[in-house]
Amino acid sequence: MELAELVALRPRPGAGLLLGLTRRCPLRCAHCSTSSTMAGEQPAADQLLRFARSFTADDRPEVLLLTGGEPLLRPRLVAGLTAVARSAGCRTALLSGMFFARGGRVPAPVMRVLAGLDHFSASLDAFHEREVPRADVLRAVRRVLDAGVPVSFHLTGSGPADPYLAEVTADIRRAFADRVPMLVNQVRPVGRAASWATATTTAAGPRADTDRVRPCAMAAWPVVAFDGTVLACCNQQTVDQRPAPRHLTLGHIARDDWPAVRARSSASPVLRLIRSTGPDHLYARYGAPAAPGYCAGCRQLGDRPELLSGADRDGAGPVGELLDRTAARLQVEAGPVALMRRHGCPPYADLVALGGRP
Ligand code: SF4
Ligand code: SF4
Repeated sequence: MELAELVALRPRPGAGLLLGLTRRCPLRCAHCSTSSTMAGEQPAADQLLRFARSFTADDRPEVLLLTGGEPLLRPRLVAGLTAVARSAGCRTALLSGMFFARGGRVPAPVMRVLAGLDHFSASLDAFHEREVPRADVLRAVRRVLDAGVPVSFHLTGSGPADPYLAEVTADIRRAFADRVPMLVNQVRPVGRAASWATATTTAAGPRADTDRVRPCAMAAWPVVAFDGTVLACCNQQTVDQRPAPRHLTLGHIARDDWPAVRARSSASPVLRLIRSTGPDHLYARYGAPAAPGYCAGCRQLGDRPELLSGADRDGAGPVGELLDRTAARLQVEAGPVALMRRHGCPPYADLVALGGRP
């Protein structure tokens, strides 16, 4: 599975599931969004496996995304989840901070786990390079690529004008002869670590135009947080906030299975409207003062009953379902480069389609 295929699925409700396997990580990146340390929390392996076993051939995500913290600190769990997902026809991708890559190494037990994946992505940015040298990361990723696993880089910079991004993308293009795609994002207040296939929703359009329709594709894939709570999206503040906003909570892996979580996400009137019009539009549509920011406004929808009841009225039933499906179809048809132009670092959006099939 190439990166472009994975990103192309991002706007489709229920096409993916993000699992945060652990908040532990041996690296100490200064911008770590998950504040990961070796003492971090992690959901119970048996609960994660039980949840994955509820996938069926007829009701499953297309892709399971394993992230952290550092998911490769739980190699047996990664292998178990990969096998369970595959038995239901679901593919698995994983994002690593490359803690194992010093000296360009991929230890044999790590390679055995990676060989079972459908896609492997390596994080790289100025903060990571202080932990593991870039040359070592590139050599390790080449080993994984040579083992036949589709790979990509997940790069982060300060913005479109960041000279680091220009230099590192050129270096990777040269090193891999344009065979390896890249997802380029911007450092945000919540950082990057759990943001694989996520995006900067705040950069989705000019703030002055607050009633504009700006769909949130990030609300399409459920996310399992480190305490087992299932959230509607991957925004790190949303994932971390407790109690979680009710309208963005889909359940808990100790109590719920995939069909229940997927059904709640797809049937929720407010999530349908967030996915198809975005939160700013809801504030304008139902006569509230402008939203206090794209995601902040979304999290505060629960404080405004008039907005939730308006969304319930307009997002329920076949019309809401049709709106949700149509918005997803249009974004899927626009393709992964368009999605990254809207949600990633625009000048580098086309790098998502390098190498593999666009
Ligand atoms: S950013 Fe990633 S690799 Fe760095 S400390 Fe956080 S979880 Fe670990
Ligand atoms: S908080 Fe709301 S707008 Fe932000 S990513 Fe999550 S669902 Fe989308």
